[in-house]
Amino acid sequence: MSEKILVCVAWPYANGSLHTGQIVGAYLPADIFARYQRALGNQVIMVSGSDQHGTPVTVRAEAEGLPPENLAGRFHAEFLESWQRLGITFDLFTTTGTENHARTAQDIFLRLLERDHIYPASMSLPYCAKDDRFLPDRYVEGTCPACGYDNARGDQCDNCGRTLNAPDLLDPRCKICGSTPEWREEEHFFLRLSAFNERLKQWVSSQKHWRKAVANWTLGILNEGLQDRAITRDIDWGIAIPVEGWESKRIYVWFEAVIGYLSASREWAERAGEPEAWREFWLDPSARSYYFIGKDNIPFHTLIWPAMLMGYSEGEEKYNLPYDVPANQYQTVRGSKASTSQRLAVWVPDYLSRYDPDPLRYYLSVNMPETSDADFSWGDFVRRNNDELVATWGNLVNRVLTFTYRNFEGSVPAPAAVTAADSALLAKAEGALAATGENIGLCRFRAGLESAMAVAREANRYVEENAPWSLVKEDRERCATVLHTALGVIAALKTALYPYLPFTCQQLHGFLGNEGPVEAAGWRSVIPQPGQPLAEPKPLFRKLDPAIVEEEEARLGQ
Ligand SMILES: [Zn+2]
Ligand SMILES: [Zn+2]
Repeated sequence: MSEKILVCVAWPYANGSLHTGQIVGAYLPADIFARYQRALGNQVIMVSGSDQHGTPVTVRAEAEGLPPENLAGRFHAEFLESWQRLGITFDLFTTTGTENHARTAQDIFLRLLERDHIYPASMSLPYCAKDDRFLPDRYVEGTCPACGYDNARGDQCDNCGRTLNAPDLLDPRCKICGSTPEWREEEHFFLRLSAFNERLKQWVSSQKHWRKAVANWTLGILNEGLQDRAITRDIDWGIAIPVEGWESKRIYVWFEAVIGYLSASREWAERAGEPEAWREFWLDPSARSYYFIGKDNIPFHTLIWPAMLMGYSEGEEKYNLPYDVPANQYQTVRGSKASTSQRLAVWVPDYLSRYDPDPLRYYLSVNMPETSDADFSWGDFVRRNNDELVATWGNLVNRVLTFTYRNFEGSVPAPAAVTAADSALLAKAEGALAATGENIGLCRFRAGLESAMAVAREANRYVEENAPWSLVKEDRERCATVLHTALGVIAALKTALYPYLPFTCQQLHGFLGNEGPVEAAGWRSVIPQPGQPLAEPKPLFRKLDPAIVEEEEARLGQ
């Protein structure tokens, strides 16, 4: 039976180009997962959008002397192009700047206020006398009280992932002028997170399928006890607070951006011409929602958003809580976390200006930081491209297809007597297809890829041992059987590898004589029919010159 799967992906701040750390952290695993679910025949919506608000955007806009909407608009357009060129298949990638999003966020705000989950209170905030302004979140920096990192910000520590409040910072300083802020009392709205502590603990404890690191980190925070947090700020860029007398403040981004998953689902339904279709993904308890994020976003998705949904669901409609939050660890570059603010990263538009998307998707999948941080290394990228994509999978496809096309009139040869070894290899390919699917379904993306690549290696040995180039002269029937077997294996692996390598697997789908998208053929292996015409094959991958490693390494950090 077809299932409903909601794929939610982190909202990138529209304040800089995307880097490979963000791609491997959230967008690529989400896309692999969504492609697999679609091929299975499930109903999938994959949503996200640019986060236009918040101090990360205003800090950079001020530095460039631009209005924040211009900066956000520029990067939103760039994100859309990156998704298309990398093959990240959103059903909707919108922004937090839409009226629909503001309406949805204000509705949730008011509902929580009515139920006393939000309340006003006064708090002490950093204020820069020199700049004559409050210093919300990223406008104040200092030392993290938990890990000692000295570039922690007023909202979060990038080093240990902990969410912070400005008063927690040791040695705070103004981001704009560097001076030490004074403290002023100011009234703000707070989310009563403390009241959800026990309910969240019960809920998280029962999520046995979550990644250990995600569940343990969340339970650790819950065992310390959640603190109420201010959800409004002294800025003029963002969503208005729908309460009279609060016109000079805005709803803060970490309260509002997570609501984007719901508002984007509504916008998707509206655009699809079925304005109520989002309800099945949010209110039907059999629908499952997966939140693909990097580990720095864990608190927003396992604590704050679920608490908001619990409070919002106290009426008649019960909104689904996240089914899984498969957060990844960090990608590192030269041992440091890849980061937009530090400029130490491999930038997506820059990568795509020189190389193809599938080799990056392959390298990032093989090296995905599922359980621990993983380093991006150009040397490793080139080696894996040349040894694994070109010499293993690409070589298998290229020599079998080219040889068959040239020697069997451009069509699938008819097999004669099939040996035990032929059947065994075909059975392994079928097994790999099933294992890859199962692993992707459980968000074990590295394991899924390895299941398929192991059979590609074995099929290469099979072709080597059976040497169809000799058989074609000595025993044409046996040659046809060997090629037919190899084509069957290639057809199965094409489907298994498709979520990882969508561009080249789609090409291969065509070489094998198929029409339409790979996805439409379903998650099953179809043995090519004897006599089926093949299309003239071309190499799927290109070998990279190891000399590029030095050039690319020199570009890092620029
Ligand atoms: Zn820290
Ligand atoms: Zn200042």
